[in-house]
Amino acid sequence: MYLFHIKGTPRAAAMVHRHILLVTFPAQGHIKPSLQFAKQLIKMGLEVTFATSRDAHRRMTKTTGPPPPGFNFAAFSDGYDGSFKPSDIDVKHMMSEIRNRGSQTLRDIIKASADEGRPITCLVYGLFLPWAAKVAREFDIAAALLWSQPATVLDIYHYYFHDYIDINVENCKDPSWSIELPGLPLLKIHDLPSFILPSNSDEFNALQSIQEQLEILDEETSPTVLVNSFDALEPEALKAIDKYNLIGIGPLIPSAFLDGKEPSDTSFGGDLFQKSNSYAEWISSKPKSSVVYVSFGSILSLPRKQMEEIARGLLESCRPFLWVIKVKENGEEEKEEDKLSCMEELEQQGMIVPWCSQLEVLSHPSLGCFVTHCGWNSTVESLVSGVPMVAFPQWTDQGTNAKMIEDVWKRGVRVKPNEEGTVEGGELKRCIEMVMGGGDRAEELRRNAEKWKDLARDAMKDGGSSAKNLKAFVLEIGETFH
Ligand code: UDP
Repeated sequence: MYLFHIKGTPRAAAMVHRHILLVTFPAQGHIKPSLQFAKQLIKMGLEVTFATSRDAHRRMTKTTGPPPPGFNFAAFSDGYDGSFKPSDIDVKHMMSEIRNRGSQTLRDIIKASADEGRPITCLVYGLFLPWAAKVAREFDIAAALLWSQPATVLDIYHYYFHDYIDINVENCKDPSWSIELPGLPLLKIHDLPSFILPSNSDEFNALQSIQEQLEILDEETSPTVLVNSFDALEPEALKAIDKYNLIGIGPLIPSAFLDGKEPSDTSFGGDLFQKSNSYAEWISSKPKSSVVYVSFGSILSLPRKQMEEIARGLLESCRPFLWVIKVKENGEEEKEEDKLSCMEELEQQGMIVPWCSQLEVLSHPSLGCFVTHCGWNSTVESLVSGVPMVAFPQWTDQGTNAKMIEDVWKRGVRVKPNEEGTVEGGELKRCIEMVMGGGDRAEELRRNAEKWKDLARDAMKDGGSSAKNLKAFVLEIGETFH
């Protein structure tokens, strides 16, 4: 229960039970920020029902502590439920199962919650789930999109689907091609989200899903989009599209890593993979700011050739490193030919782990540099931790994130792939040296790292921009309900 003032009139106070139905795509990069958002709402006295796939739910309950009071789980099948080898999964079929079974689950929850006297006040849904907004409409329930990428990327998709960006095979080959869009930095081809490029194979139907999402937003007047970003980080991008009400409510990371006031806040964190902590002692034994941390997130699996080049770059940099290499899952076998050729030397100089607590690693005083694929969560976590980055983007929004890391926030250096698209070992070494060496550039990166760390933390403090934005959103949904 939460006491608030209806329509802002101080006299008309009422006790209102607000119940958010939060539906999240079952991938690590979506679950983590969404769960943080849920925890923020619960702290503000709301009830949250968190809907995602059965497989994600099962994995989370294995790795994550018990949920706080006021948090309910609802799980739906994705058609596979974690019992198939990844290579046997038909992604398009899975997306369609998520849509059909997820829609039915949301309908059931909405009806049951109303029958139980705790009706859904607002349905908040994540990326790749435009069908959830349609369910909200069926029941005339307010809906908001929780966008787990930067506002800049949403703006680019908006411009793309409204014909501001003309992109074809020819201009993709032209190194001088660039585009200026309102509210955004000058963008080259490699700065655009990969889904809009002609080379995109789109096995996920991702672009189609984003198009459907934008059509839904366009049908509404000033649709609410909650963005895992903050006002100071993307001041223009958050305001670039007049038709949308983009609201910065991030960084959505456990408060333990923002103000340190609630160390236990990490236990219900939403990890889908088992963490190893075998590195804790090792990392603590290293000098201050000396360790290179390398991770390509939860989805990517790089070609063998690229892995060998990364290994070479790390060995040549002669610095201690912690490298996350995910192990195969669900009976997928580790092949002999996939093994790195220089494993012994790598293990002498650094450590390879299958999964770690990334935020703990990034906050460790021994950390000196983050070689990242620039997934949005990793980018935000790096900003909050003040660790300079080597940006090593691969697909989806990562190229755009890398552009901002290097040119807008001046927080890192971006690798340059060779003509075949591989980043060579020497290039990785060069970038690590730029970030960790003693030159002016490294000095500038470290200064900016401190600046953005403070700004990111300020946004979530009481009275900070994101904290205020979230409070205003919660008050507004109370009003909508009445
Ligand atoms: N992560 C982690 N341990 C690891 C590697 C990654 O906890 O060993 C987390 C990381 O902190 C981030 C998420 O996994 O919250 C990855 O999300 P991101 O958006 O960076 O990339 P994606 O996995 O979606 O490509």
